[in-house]
Amino acid sequence: MAVAIVQTDALVLRSYRLGETSLIVHLFTADHGLLRCVAKGARGPKSRFGASLEPGVRVNAVIYRKFARDLQLLSKADIVAYWPSLWEDPDRFARAGAVLEFLDRAAYGEAGDAELLDLATQSLASMSTASHPALEAILRGFEIQALKFLGLAPELTSCLECRSPLERGGLFHPLRGGLLCGAPCGGDGSAFRISERARKTLLALGDHTPASMESWVMERYPGPEVSRAVERFLSAHLERFEGLRSSRVGERIESYARSPR
Ligand SMILES: [Zn+2]
Repeated sequence: MAVAIVQTDALVLRSYRLGETSLIVHLFTADHGLLRCVAKGARGPKSRFGASLEPGVRVNAVIYRKFARDLQLLSKADIVAYWPSLWEDPDRFARAGAVLEFLDRAAYGEAGDAELLDLATQSLASMSTASHPALEAILRGFEIQALKFLGLAPELTSCLECRSPLERGGLFHPLRGGLLCGAPCGGDGSAFRISERARKTLLALGDHTPASMESWVMERYPGPEVSRAVERFLSAHLERFEGLRSSRVGERIESYARSPR
């Protein structure tokens, strides 16, 4: 079987044990999308991988890739960038973990996406230094912009049904993928009302770079409305997002608090 030697930038999404000395590593790569790799000997005392396979590290990886194979062989991973402060604070830890989890769940197929990789990298970098109130906005901004890359952006400017422009909030319908005007177009029970402030915030989150989010976040950021709309949208459109992820962010903060660091 033909083997291709692939060199690509990637983010380490997660890694877990395989046998005594190896790791399975999920990489989101610039050129080949999500690749699951085996790193042989990565847990041995003289591992050549060092700390490069920790989640959230951006690496330059060399992979021996066989197309018919589920697990690829990771030959080399050099650290390009990493942000230790993400793992020293429960709020940063939870949001950074949600970025990695998004890619692990949402990115499938063989298509690489260098722009999505860079967006995720910039989001992690911004989260490592941002003030606490901005962390949530950086995460939601990442999710909305990543959905655009995946061709799944929610419709927020005109009613899904009558196409009239929306200027006073609307009824958010997760499954139909955006907003209804509410009069005359109503929901079917699964839609819920969001305010004009929340609608404008969702739009703005789709436009700001992660680095600019900090200075932009408004005083009355409508956090609960934004979280609810984004979470419901993700669970409606990405089959592997079961349940509300905001509760998992909470769980992650709790497990952080319990873990001996
Ligand atoms: Zn309408």
